[in-house]
Amino acid sequence: MPDYQNILNTIYKELLAREDKGEVADYIPELAKVDKTKFGVYLNNIHGENYCVGDAKTKFSIQSISKVFTLAMAFANQGNKLWKRVDVEPSGNPFNYLALLEQEEGIPRNPLINSGAIVVADCLLSSYDDPKAELLKFVRQLANDDDIHYNDTVATSEIETGFRNFAIANLLKSFGNLENPVEDVLDFYFHQCSLEMTCEQLSNAFFPFANKGVCMQENECLTATQAKRINAIMLTCGFYDEAGEFAFEVGLPGKSGVGGGIVALLPDNFIITTWSPGLNEKGNSYLGMLALEKFTTATKASIF
Ligand code: GLN
Repeated sequence: MPDYQNILNTIYKELLAREDKGEVADYIPELAKVDKTKFGVYLNNIHGENYCVGDAKTKFSIQSISKVFTLAMAFANQGNKLWKRVDVEPSGNPFNYLALLEQEEGIPRNPLINSGAIVVADCLLSSYDDPKAELLKFVRQLANDDDIHYNDTVATSEIETGFRNFAIANLLKSFGNLENPVEDVLDFYFHQCSLEMTCEQLSNAFFPFANKGVCMQENECLTATQAKRINAIMLTCGFYDEAGEFAFEVGLPGKSGVGGGIVALLPDNFIITTWSPGLNEKGNSYLGMLALEKFTTATKASIF
């Protein structure tokens, strides 16, 4: 087995010293306040070993990483019926792009761009009386950790400034692909994005995706087929118009968020989570992408 701790220490030291760290997302005013010098990495494997470096135990806004959790919940709940309302093709466009949705008559390209995640949120609203409580329960169960919460200030900050998401949801509604009121669906969507977790909690919560659907506490959260399909969607769609670049540089399925987090995994092996709030121009963590490229190169760990 590679000397993981040593590899993480080397990558951390090298990247922390870099002057260029990308830019913090400022289109959500609350996120603009985050300290750009934060940087952490957490690695756990399916045998229970774990390694960490830097700010791996500090909570941050998981933002779009939450789309994997809502997708898993909706897929487990609805099965293949879900794919009638959202497709599984890469979009090649930014996460909040509008034009494709108009062209493709209200069927989002995939569940990991905003339009797709908003449809998934609508499915959860239709399935549960209290979807926010259910999502929290689901994520806490995946992570085996009850200390996971929404941040209402971040959610409110996005409700006040999320004009593109309102445009997307209204377009979906006009095409008949939202069952619930736009305001209710977006209130849920902005709350899921506001979930705060540490690198450690995220790595633990993604355990079933690396372990054929079986959680850390050994119960089956997803079927092996569902885990496989979600990993395929992460690989092809997890980084928006940088999904090809992430596969090329890193070679693992994964998901990013504009809070600066990235979770990536090697099925049947490990989960690695990075957090550095500075983003590149595509909205993915700048240092996180570099760290993961260095990690898979040093360990030769990749699905390819
Ligand atoms: N809440 C953000 C948005 O909807 C999530 C985007 C992201 O993390 N890529 O704009």
